Amino acid sequence: MPLNVDLHSHSFHSDGVLPPAQVAARARAQGVDWWALSDHDETSGLAEAAAAARELGLGFIPGVEVSVTFCERTIHVLGLNIDPDQPDLRAGLAGIRRSRFERAGIIAERLRECGIADAYEGALRHVDNPELIGRVHFARHLLEQGHCKSLQQAFDRYLGEGKRAFVPMRWPKLESVVPWIRAAGGKAVIAHPGRYRYTPQQFDALFDAFKAQGGVGLEVVSSGHTPAQCRHYARVAQACGFQASRGSDFHAPGIPHTELGRVPPLPDGLTPVWQDWI
Ligand code: AMP
Ligand code: MN
Ligand code: MN
Ligand code: MN
Repeated sequence: MPLNVDLHSHSFHSDGVLPPAQVAARARAQGVDWWALSDHDETSGLAEAAAAARELGLGFIPGVEVSVTFCERTIHVLGLNIDPDQPDLRAGLAGIRRSRFERAGIIAERLRECGIADAYEGALRHVDNPELIGRVHFARHLLEQGHCKSLQQAFDRYLGEGKRAFVPMRWPKLESVVPWIRAAGGKAVIAHPGRYRYTPQQFDALFDAFKAQGGVGLEVVSSGHTPAQCRHYARVAQACGFQASRGSDFHAPGIPHTELGRVPPLPDGLTPVWQDWI
């Protein structure tokens, strides 16, 4: 049996629903051996996560999932095994959180134009960390108020790219984010590449630019990938010389395909991103 390594998950310090200690306990209960908490643009849950993992005898890797703009689109870059106190990383993430706060006001404005009043206050009721507001918090409010039948529909109707309450963002570039992660002693890993709507040329440009900045990994196995996408990104990792990561992208209980520790194992022939740590 290979080790069960899950290096992508969220707590209520970003848009997950559980406190870090409960994510840790759930990871352990699901048979995970090594776990990373990787909240969006936020590291405030890592101390609790580390302490809980220690109690449980669960291996722990401190992580973060950083919002990045590349070729006019948002991508996510995981920083794994980071020191959350490193000043450049801290300052960079604080800047992203300020942009999120400003975006939230504009999202609420757009929703008002759709006839949905007070969405900002509504979204805030779903926020546990006042520093980190995201689209999922708006989606939970829209669902609760009956404006949609599922979180997915909230994105399809209002919050997804190009939809009526979508607010285009300029997040920091790879050229900033990868160096922050490296300065913090971490490895930069492109999260769920299969989710990005790039042309093949743009993907090549992404992998080249990421590598040029010192990015080392690709999240080959993700709950956001089909089996064919896992195979495709395994080939990309080999061709480009990237290490490979595996992550559930767990946010909340009750969504079987994103359960902690349940995504398929890494395909053979890849270098795991965790090989130096475990
Ligand atoms: P944000 O970083 O605030 O722009 O929100 C991005 C997050 O929204 C992702 O990490 C997912 O948790 C969630 N998300 C994005 N697209 C969808 C979708 N189509 N359905 C459900 N959740 C989504
Ligand atoms: Mn999320
Ligand atoms: Mn993501
Ligand atoms: Mn994620």
